[in-house]
Amino acid sequence: MRESVSIGQIAGDQSYSRKCQALLEEVLGAPKVLLTTSCTHALELAALLLDIGPEDEVIVPSFTFVSTANAFVLRGARIRFADIRPDTLNIDENQIERLVTPRTRAMVPVHYAGVGCEMDTLSAIARAHRIAIVEDNAHGLFGKYKQRWLGTLGTLATQSFHETKNITCGEGGALVVNDPAFVERAEVMREKGTNRSRFFRGQVDKYSWVDLGSSYVMSDVLAAFLYGQLEVWRQIQEKRRRIWQRYHAELSEWAAARDIRCPTVPEGCEQAYHMYALILPSLPIRQALIAFLKARGIMAVFHYLPLHLSPMGQKLGGRPGDCPVSETVSDRLLRLPFFNSLDPASQGRVIDAIRDFTF
Ligand SMILES: *Cc1c(COP(=O)(O)O)cnc(C)c1O
Repeated sequence: MRESVSIGQIAGDQSYSRKCQALLEEVLGAPKVLLTTSCTHALELAALLLDIGPEDEVIVPSFTFVSTANAFVLRGARIRFADIRPDTLNIDENQIERLVTPRTRAMVPVHYAGVGCEMDTLSAIARAHRIAIVEDNAHGLFGKYKQRWLGTLGTLATQSFHETKNITCGEGGALVVNDPAFVERAEVMREKGTNRSRFFRGQVDKYSWVDLGSSYVMSDVLAAFLYGQLEVWRQIQEKRRRIWQRYHAELSEWAAARDIRCPTVPEGCEQAYHMYALILPSLPIRQALIAFLKARGIMAVFHYLPLHLSPMGQKLGGRPGDCPVSETVSDRLLRLPFFNSLDPASQGRVIDAIRDFTF
């Protein structure tokens, strides 16, 4: 980071951005990776690239972060909320077909917790109805589905380097362009609608405004910070794998005896170890466990109020009962502390505290 400042490269697309992009392209085997200011912006870029507009519909799981849907709402699209599977909490591939209409242009599967969605089924539906797949892979970098990297299975995919994610630069993201036909326009739209990238490659002698776009380029200062972690991504993932495995080894039996569910990772999925979440029998029991842990100085959080029931989701037509699995999981899910610097002693205290919890 100091280097990017001292050599005067603090804007975007300088040496560290190029290093990050090259590393990701090489590992994933993707035609193009473009760093962005966030995953949210990468999703907005995807919506622009697909020319999503007010006549269009986009299928999105209800159980996800707002940006998965909002990026397409910004283009005026109608969101069709899909429910999730009760085991992986991924979009339920068996409920997509009934949401497809002649206006459906895209679906946005989220690989929840870094465990792959049923991509074979989703891809077959997408092909049959000529729908683009945009993977929201904020949780899933370096995970695999049937030996293929998450983030390389859709037309486009988005990554997050927000501080809550496995690999981070505070705020940041990337667009993975898997269909080469989108590469040039992606570069333009990410650079305020200009052909600045071609200009820097000497392919045009001046750069000008050529298309829609916005300012989605990550600063090289952040890219330098990011590169420090991307260089050691295997160690980071290995550390997270150990944390995940320990929770699983020490809590599975305890949980099974109490009607508490631990994460499910289907065969064929090599997960990205983004999170470890329990599903408690009820909302009051979940709330009691949060309070119990808090009294021992342990912060455990829940997430994803179903989007279809949010104030905005209801304005868009969402109603209670539309996505019953999302609704019940949202009340009962609890994420355990899980970050790269979680040391074994602290994790032991979390596990002991959970095992002391009675209800
Ligand atoms: C974190 C997250 C995002 C947004 O990422 P930002 O980089 O903060 O914009 C989008 N989708 C999912 C599923 C996320 O977890």
